[in-house]
Amino acid sequence: MRTGHDLELVHVTKRYPNGAVAVDNVSHLFQAGSYVCLLGPSGCGKSSTLRMIAGHETVSDGAILLSNRDVSALPPAKRGTAMMFQSYALFPHLTVRDNVAFSLKMKGVDRSTRDKRAMELLELVDMQRHQDRLPDQLSGGQQQRVALARALITDPQVLLLDEPLSALDPFLRIRMRTELKKLQRELGITFIHVTHGQDEALALADEIVVMNNAVIEQAGPARDVWMRPRSEFVARFMGGHNVIDLAGGKAAIRADAVRIGTQGQSATVINVEYQGAHVALATKMGESDILALIPEAEFFENPKNPGESVFLTWDEGRLHRLQA
Ligand code: ADP
Repeated sequence: MRTGHDLELVHVTKRYPNGAVAVDNVSHLFQAGSYVCLLGPSGCGKSSTLRMIAGHETVSDGAILLSNRDVSALPPAKRGTAMMFQSYALFPHLTVRDNVAFSLKMKGVDRSTRDKRAMELLELVDMQRHQDRLPDQLSGGQQQRVALARALITDPQVLLLDEPLSALDPFLRIRMRTELKKLQRELGITFIHVTHGQDEALALADEIVVMNNAVIEQAGPARDVWMRPRSEFVARFMGGHNVIDLAGGKAAIRADAVRIGTQGQSATVINVEYQGAHVALATKMGESDILALIPEAEFFENPKNPGESVFLTWDEGRLHRLQA
């Protein structure tokens, strides 16, 4: 793994001309060589953050440092970053090879050198056989791989990916995400991947940065963010948790820690969904919606139906206090 190419946001703010504050005084250190997912609902400031790092958007306040060098005022090509655009951004009239070689052509690199390098990148993404095709002769997943090769040809220290999998069907999305992760491990460079999908972030990220309302709500290793959400927002957004009111504040309890007992909190079953390994039991406990994920064998020993009353129990030790 490389070292020294940390990327740092220092009190970064993005204010658009219409007055919208898309990113509000955000500071964060992205460790060199890590796979980071910027996760949050639509409109929370993920893309603005990514575009400022790439240099496609100006920074209103603050600074962006890469390898301790302030890159905030540099043009995109001079930063050491590269952005993977969506597949539709491939030039339709250029072959796969020429698409990948494009930025080297702009730099004045001679044809044989840039073709050789383009072929190396195409091999990396396993697209060398399709070098002479035009983009519209490729599937969606193949176009994504070409877009990836095109971004990587500049040897970036940081690759920026804006919702790279959102245009793919679910099957391909999971395959491509495996390939992205493998590629990042092989290259050892930093990937910063914007997504609004919790599953995608959990599957890929060494670090998850959860954004909400133009600020970072929580950042940390994927497992930490999922196991120990700091706020109600993160608990609800990451999913898999119930938020309940306790005297003195709110707490989260994981859906797979809730059990049906012979005594406990009384609740009414609203819906029963068979999910294979688990059965998801949606219940109403007072005003709260509580989801219980019951291992399927345990559920079918004593099945429940919508409308039935049940007692919910959990180990107090598994309650996790949330910040107000
Ligand atoms: P996300 O990627 O999380 O969906 P964005 O960074 O695209 O969020 O947007 C954050 C906020 O900034 C939103 O309220 C959005 O409407 C606003 N915004 C984004 N781009 C522009 C722009 N070019 N001009 C004005 N407002 C913008």
